[in-house]
Amino acid sequence: MKINIVRPILPKIQNIKSEFESCLNSGLVTNNGKNVQKFEKNLKKHLDTKFDPVVFCNGQMAFYSLIQAWKYKLKLNNKNKIYAIVPSFTWSGTVNSLVLNNIIPIFCDVDEHLLLDLKKVEKRFNKLKKIKKYVKFIIPVSNYGNIINLNHLKRFCTKYKIVPVMDSAPAFGSKFKNKYSNNYGFDEMFSFHATKIMTSMEGGCVVSNNSEIVNYLRYLRDFGQFEKKIGNIKLPGLNSKMQEISAIVGNSNLKNFNSTLKNRLRIIQNYNIFFKKFEKHNIFSLMKVSSEVRCSYLYFPIIVKKNLKNFKDYLKKNKINFRKYYSSVHTLDFYKNEGKSLSLGLEFTNQIKDKIIALPIFSDMSENEMKYIFKKISQFYKIK
Ligand SMILES: *Cc1c(COP(=O)(O)O)cnc(C)c1O
Repeated sequence: MKINIVRPILPKIQNIKSEFESCLNSGLVTNNGKNVQKFEKNLKKHLDTKFDPVVFCNGQMAFYSLIQAWKYKLKLNNKNKIYAIVPSFTWSGTVNSLVLNNIIPIFCDVDEHLLLDLKKVEKRFNKLKKIKKYVKFIIPVSNYGNIINLNHLKRFCTKYKIVPVMDSAPAFGSKFKNKYSNNYGFDEMFSFHATKIMTSMEGGCVVSNNSEIVNYLRYLRDFGQFEKKIGNIKLPGLNSKMQEISAIVGNSNLKNFNSTLKNRLRIIQNYNIFFKKFEKHNIFSLMKVSSEVRCSYLYFPIIVKKNLKNFKDYLKKNKINFRKYYSSVHTLDFYKNEGKSLSLGLEFTNQIKDKIIALPIFSDMSENEMKYIFKKISQFYKIK
């Protein structure tokens, strides 16, 4: 048996054929077409948002534009350097979006939830001294779909007057106390990349609770244009519109999302039961998930404490694919050599960064596939 690292849920051609056909026949394949508009309406309903979500060609452009919109709203011109607190343990795209907005990242640690360690950030915040007042943003990343304690986050942001902008790229379907993060007033980005649980092949969206930000985002994804007739721009935007074909796939997947997720949660439960045994034997550490969080688990991360090298070779030999994910961005060549990035302590990140692997978990994983993975891992560590 071979287990790939991901298996996207995609519609059967017959289920999207008529929409795609009429889209091609109409010639209206992009530029905020009717399927994109429909996708935004459907997302609004699903996520129960205040304003329509703004859909983009991918998650990163959505996030990049969200940061740009906030900079503009806060009137942060480039006269003063500005800073954002961001976990090093994330996808490089998160940090790239800051840097390309002329924001200097201050890397911070994650805790055992593999999420931004807010306690540590607060403890060390004063060490930033003169820089402190130029820290304008904090970027909680919902790694693997896990969610930071939003009450703590809100208190921190109010106290220090810092704007939270959430990278919830992998967290579609995850909830904090039964609601999405944006329902608590946080602006967030979701990715619909093919590797993610809810996909439009490529795609992403921003949900904002601020009508000004929502408007800027609509301009930004269209070169910054707000007076379309004369092409007048409010802000320099990068074209990042979603294509109709992506919206068609997105609509089809969103329709089935609740049942997809239900299946996935059942599989996650089995994973958790299985892997807890290995935690007891001190072989793996698992990501902690608070009882207030429903985590949709993009991959199943394990921190391997025993026999890592041989275990990886063994998985490869048995055709069980895995990923080194996430990486610690501060160690990547560009950031390592940049010399401009700061840190608030990365002890836990450094401790786990070479030991963590992400195992595959599919929403439509069969019993046989799951049993195959479990059996192989049991055999390797000789744990029943
Ligand atoms: C997937 C992911 C992204 C990138 O999203 P794209 O749609 O591929 O651009 C960004 N941040 C995190 C945390 C992710 O998991």
